Amino acid sequence: MNIHEYQAKELLAQCGVAVPPGEMCDQPDHAGAMVRKLFDQGHDRVVVKSQIHAGGRGKGTFKSGFKGGVKLCKTAAEAEDNARAMLGQVLVTKQTGPEGRQVNKILIAAAQNIQKEFYLAVLLDRATSRPVVMASTEGGMDIEEVAEKTPEKIVRESVDPAVGLMPYQARKIAVRLGLKGALIGDAAKQILGVYRAFWENDASLVEINPLCVITDRDGKESVAAVDAKVSLDDNALYRHKNIQAMRDINEEAPLEIEASKHDLNYIKLDGNIACLVNGAGLAMATMDIIKHFGGSPANFLDVGGGASKEQVTAAFQIILGDPNVHGILVNIFGGIMQCDVIAAGIVAAVKETGLTLPLVVRLEGNNVEIGKNILQNSGLPIISGGSMADAAEKVVKAVAS
Ligand code: ADP
Ligand code: MG
Repeated sequence: MNIHEYQAKELLAQCGVAVPPGEMCDQPDHAGAMVRKLFDQGHDRVVVKSQIHAGGRGKGTFKSGFKGGVKLCKTAAEAEDNARAMLGQVLVTKQTGPEGRQVNKILIAAAQNIQKEFYLAVLLDRATSRPVVMASTEGGMDIEEVAEKTPEKIVRESVDPAVGLMPYQARKIAVRLGLKGALIGDAAKQILGVYRAFWENDASLVEINPLCVITDRDGKESVAAVDAKVSLDDNALYRHKNIQAMRDINEEAPLEIEASKHDLNYIKLDGNIACLVNGAGLAMATMDIIKHFGGSPANFLDVGGGASKEQVTAAFQIILGDPNVHGILVNIFGGIMQCDVIAAGIVAAVKETGLTLPLVVRLEGNNVEIGKNILQNSGLPIISGGSMADAAEKVVKAVAS
């Protein structure tokens, strides 16, 4: 599960990480009062930041034409104007894809006087089965780009999970980021806090981009997390009630929410051939073979080992909820499931949804002959696939024509 920046900063603050003071706002009329509160605390500028589960907001553009999902403001009125321009509008960034994301919340935070921007992340390193802390002097930039062009600018510290990140490791990172004097200790404290937030919340990723050296009005330097992204391990959410409450259903794909209600494993992709398959491995292989014949899968859909007729109907409805779908490939192996049950489910679903798109069905396994007969005698224009390859080739052809 992903959470918003303002929520990630709450978790970080609980672990002692310095974050700019701020408040979430979902109504432009409230923005002014929040800004005045920050001004009363001695801050002289604020940033208005779109809250969506995607990065690259600063350089993003709204579909309305308004530029920038992160705006620096000097007055309450200016902040309110920006809040109005962002809330309810769709922001397109490098990470959202062309369809963008609607901004329903903004964060109004004290603007920091930034001297330097760094990159800092804690994530799981699959190669070593350990958490790894990654840092770079190239903050604010696309870390993938840094990794590709200047990999030597990324510092890594592998963490022994039994003892956690050691203070000397955090100081080592700070030194390698080029920090000097008291800032080494301060940065180390922030890095240790970020690691603690990763560990204690069962996160799969905590990313601070940028981690900044900031100065206050007296010129005193310190280190703070100016942006934050936290992804959590769904399998551990049951032991974090506070994080469960942070779920923002608006940020999840509506079809995927619908699928989870029916215990279907559905992930929307951007192709045009929908697949309905039982078993994750077979679903992956089906997507591969569609690609092999020059097609492009519209989704991953695993109806599970023992799908019911109701689930098959729900699966068809979900598939058809994607306007990009131009054809459907059903690939079922009757192991736990009987092919005749699935065939009856398909016939019922096709009638119920009034399907007009080409549908190719490949059945194999228990009661396959009975299943094929049900499809054939249904009077519906269902194309029968012999082998997996045959079925994939047929659906790709049907969609192309
Ligand atoms: P994103 O990564 O989605 O573009 P960020 O939170 O990183 O969003 O904001 C983009 C840039 O805006 C930052 O790199 C930083 O330079 C600036 N910025 C963000 N928050 C603040 C803040 N509180 N004070 C000053 N500058 C900020
Ligand atoms: Mg950022």
